[in-house]
Amino acid sequence: MRVIIKDNYAQVSKWAAEHVIEKINAFNPTKEKPFVLGLPTGSTPIGMYQNLVKAYQEGRVSFKNVVTFNMDEYVGLAPTHDQSYHYFMHQNLFDHIDCPAENIHILNGLAEDLEAECEAYEAEIKKFGGIHLFIGGIGPDGHIAFNEPGSSFSSRTRLKTLTTDTIIANSRFFDNDVNKVPKLALTVGIATVMSADEVMILANGHNKARAMQQVVEGAISQMWPISCLQNHRHGILVADEAACAEIKVATYRYFKDIEKGN
Ligand code: PGA
Repeated sequence: MRVIIKDNYAQVSKWAAEHVIEKINAFNPTKEKPFVLGLPTGSTPIGMYQNLVKAYQEGRVSFKNVVTFNMDEYVGLAPTHDQSYHYFMHQNLFDHIDCPAENIHILNGLAEDLEAECEAYEAEIKKFGGIHLFIGGIGPDGHIAFNEPGSSFSSRTRLKTLTTDTIIANSRFFDNDVNKVPKLALTVGIATVMSADEVMILANGHNKARAMQQVVEGAISQMWPISCLQNHRHGILVADEAACAEIKVATYRYFKDIEKGN
């Protein structure tokens, strides 16, 4: 697992975007052989998306032959709801790049048969030969997508009940009213993420420091879902200084040394 430590959020966002651009361009995707990208929502990736949009506008990258799969979506919110992840993705990325609509995959939280929707999602990923690069954020409790502590490492796309903690945390986006927060979500599983050729996780800010410490130095445990990254052949954590506040000085220095120049 690589740990890239950057001074601040702006640098994390820049590094992550440049990594995505490099990967897409090196792959040289075509319509027949598209690059398959897994994408997150949340506050963390916004800076990376801004850098990607800028790079697209500068002609440094194209998403014409990129296929995307988002991590998750609330159950019951229309794509036009300003808190749906459909809405978020169009606002922050898809409305500003050349990714064709038919290449974009986001779980449908309004599907009549939610289980069938999840199965079809996994089948669609498989149809494209799997995900080349899955990008994610990290929760303060180590969750990834809606895979809360205790989620199985072999989980696949499925329906999940949100924990009370998550509902309270997310109520800030729903007029601070817990009753307005959806109680269910569709989410890729941990195995869905781990099956990607490469997984890049972004973390910034002090409130991620405890999770970072567990992921980097702790044991692999389902109680810290993203600790599974230690087992991935190509796992990358990109974090700012604040998110590294809880790791040992020796660990910090080790990764700073080994990644110098990156
Ligand atoms: P955040 O969320 O990017 O808004 O911090 C990350 C997550 O909970 O997965």
